[in-house]
Amino acid sequence: MALPYNHHYKLSLSSLFSRKPISSRLQPICCLQCNSSVSSSPFTEKHSFQRYQRDRWVYDNNQRLSLNNNDHAGSCSIPPDTHSIRLNDIALQLPELRKLLQVLKHKRESCGGQVSRNGPGNVFLVGTGPGDPDLLTLKAVRVIQNADLLLYDRLVSNAVLDLVGPDARLLYVGKTAGYHSRTQEEIHELLLSFAEAGATVVRLKGGDPLVFGRGGEEMDFLQQQGIQVKVIPGITAASGIAAELGIPLTHRGVANSVRFLTGHSRKGGTDPLFVAENAADPDSTLVVYMGLSTLPSLALKLMHHGLPPDTPAAAVERGTTPQQRMVFAEVKDLADKIKMAELVSPTLIIIGKVVALSPFWRQSLKEESCLVEA
Ligand code: SAH
Repeated sequence: MALPYNHHYKLSLSSLFSRKPISSRLQPICCLQCNSSVSSSPFTEKHSFQRYQRDRWVYDNNQRLSLNNNDHAGSCSIPPDTHSIRLNDIALQLPELRKLLQVLKHKRESCGGQVSRNGPGNVFLVGTGPGDPDLLTLKAVRVIQNADLLLYDRLVSNAVLDLVGPDARLLYVGKTAGYHSRTQEEIHELLLSFAEAGATVVRLKGGDPLVFGRGGEEMDFLQQQGIQVKVIPGITAASGIAAELGIPLTHRGVANSVRFLTGHSRKGGTDPLFVAENAADPDSTLVVYMGLSTLPSLALKLMHHGLPPDTPAAAVERGTTPQQRMVFAEVKDLADKIKMAELVSPTLIIIGKVVALSPFWRQSLKEESCLVEA
C-alpha cells in the first residue's frame, strides 16, 4: 500500500532562521575579497542555478516546474531530453569555470602583499541530509551560505540549493547519461584548482558524505594533493527516513543492532548479496541503500538464511521530501508491492521487526483488511 507524505511530523526551523537571519549571526569562514565590495566578486557574474538546470528530482513544484515541465513525481526512469543533458554537461561549464579561475587567481595576485599569507582555500565535504532542508546541520548551513563554488549531485534537493548565496557558483556534477565518468577527473582537477586559488569550495552530498557517498575517495584525492578537507556530517537516509516514519532503528527487546547495506557493488566487486548470509538476523534491523533492483534476490536470500518471511519491511521513495511515497509489506511480498507502486530511485528499504512499531505499519494493515473485506 503506497501511503502519502505525512506533514504532521515536520517541525520547521526555517521560521527560527527568518526571525534572525543566520548570516547576521555567523561569521564567514573565508573571504575572497580584498577590501573590495561584495559586488566585485568574480562569482557574481551569473548565479548558475538558473543557467544550469539540474536533473529532474523536483522538490519545489511551484517554483521549479516550469524548468522541468516534462517531469512528474516518480518519473525518474524517463530519460531527460537532450537539451537538459547538454545543460547539465559539466564539460560545457568547464571553459567558463576555468575563465573564472583565472579571474580569481588574478584577483588574489592583485591583493599585493596578502598573497603569500593566503594559504589554499577550504574544501568542505558537506552532508545535506535526505532532502528536507530543516534536517541540515547549522554548520552545513553556514558553510553553504559562505561558499564560492558548490558542486552538487542528484540527491541534493532544490530546497537545500536555495540556501546558496547569490554570489556563489553552482556546478551540477550528477550522473547524467554517461557524462559523469568522462568528467570525473576534471571535477577533481577543478576542486583542486579552485582550492589552490583560495576559494571556499563545497562538495554537497546527499545524506551523510561518508555513508555510501564516495566522500572518502574525493577526500583521498584532495589530501594527496596537500589540500585539507573538512567533513560536515549529514543525516543519513536511514536516520532521516526512520524518524519520518516513526521507526526506531534499534529498540530494546526488538532489535539490538542495525546494519546498513548497499544493493549495489562496484563493477567486478564482491556480490552485494553475499552479505545476506550474515544479515538474516531477526533481532537486527537491515537498511538497504540503492537496493531496488536487487531486492527480489536479497529478500529470497535473507529468507533462505533464516529471516522469517513475515518480517515487516518498508520501502520509502524520496523520503523526507514533499514527494515521499511509502510501501509497507512483509519481506516476502515487498518486491511485488514496490513493483505495483512503481517506486523509483532514490528509495530506501528498511527490513526488521521494528518496522511494525511505525504508526504507518498499523495504518497499512487496516487499509489492507478494509480492501479484503470489500
Ligand atoms: N550518502 C547518502 C546515501 C547515498 S547512496 C546517505 O547517507 O543517505 C544513494 C541511496 O541512498 C539511494 O539509492 C537510496 O537508497 C538512499 N537515499 C538517499 N536519500 C534518500 C531519500 N531521500 N529517500 C529515499 N532513499 C534515499
